[in-house]
Amino acid sequence: MSSTPQTQQPFSAAIVLARSAQILLPCAVFAAVLWAFDTEMIYVLPMLLFFIAVFAWEILSPLQALQMNVWQRWPANGLMWALNILIGSKLGQAIVLLAVSYQVSYGSGWLTDTFDNQILITLICILVLDVWHYFFHRLMHHWAWLWRIHRVHHSDRDFDLTTGLRFHPFEGAITTAWMLAPALALGMPWYALMANALLTLTVDYFTHANAQLPPRLERLARYLFVTPSLHRIHHSVLAPEDRYNYSTTFIFWDRLFGTYKSRSAQKGAAPLTGVEEIPATRSSGSIHTLLMPFNHFPATSASDRSPKKRKRSQK
Ligand SMILES: [Zn+2]
Repeated sequence: MSSTPQTQQPFSAAIVLARSAQILLPCAVFAAVLWAFDTEMIYVLPMLLFFIAVFAWEILSPLQALQMNVWQRWPANGLMWALNILIGSKLGQAIVLLAVSYQVSYGSGWLTDTFDNQILITLICILVLDVWHYFFHRLMHHWAWLWRIHRVHHSDRDFDLTTGLRFHPFEGAITTAWMLAPALALGMPWYALMANALLTLTVDYFTHANAQLPPRLERLARYLFVTPSLHRIHHSVLAPEDRYNYSTTFIFWDRLFGTYKSRSAQKGAAPLTGVEEIPATRSSGSIHTLLMPFNHFPATSASDRSPKKRKRSQK
């Protein structure tokens, strides 16, 4: 099989039933974990609905047939996500508290002193945090130790909604610390930080979807937003291509700073994803994934990551 999009399977009651189970089961787990960790379900309800929508989209209209065993991949990716909720949400609360105490100690923040309109303040915060994260994402690809942590996300051999959950808890922690700087410097109010957190989490589901927007919508969206097709190029198995399309929400940062790439050198609508030096046997499974930042993978020892070799290995 090549990496071209898979064709729709014939419609049957069994397929509908199987796909419904595929959609509902992870959503039930997702809701249970959110319920266990977040008492304020109202804040996460939009995320949950969006998660279900994206999951339904990619299950009913997948761009590419998944290669790896989902019963190995999904628990590993889910574990990364649950650990990030445990660590990241606590750090997120700490950020809000620090920002509030800073404002109490040093008077109101610059943003709230300068602007009255809460919607405008929220938009400014979202733009500032998005470009701030763009630079951090570039750093994660350029600094060896940061790459060891970030490659956990990139090492996923398949690309779907759960890839967007697959961030090592170290990454969640250092990203939260990095985002603290502009939040404190500008005195970002809690409601803007909350809005940004919800936006970036839901955007992560969308941009990692194993699906594709209709061509006309894709062309329009690419002026402003990161689309699943653009972000898939960032996950391409061809090493130089992971140095493009770093943006999280707004693609214009890549256009502005010269890291925009509209198509992969790989043929087909769905370029193969993964990290070349990390073999398939080490890129899935909960323990392998958790310990990956501490492992050494010599670049020369590769690899079944090369598109040529992986193409041959596909049946
Ligand atoms: Zn990356």
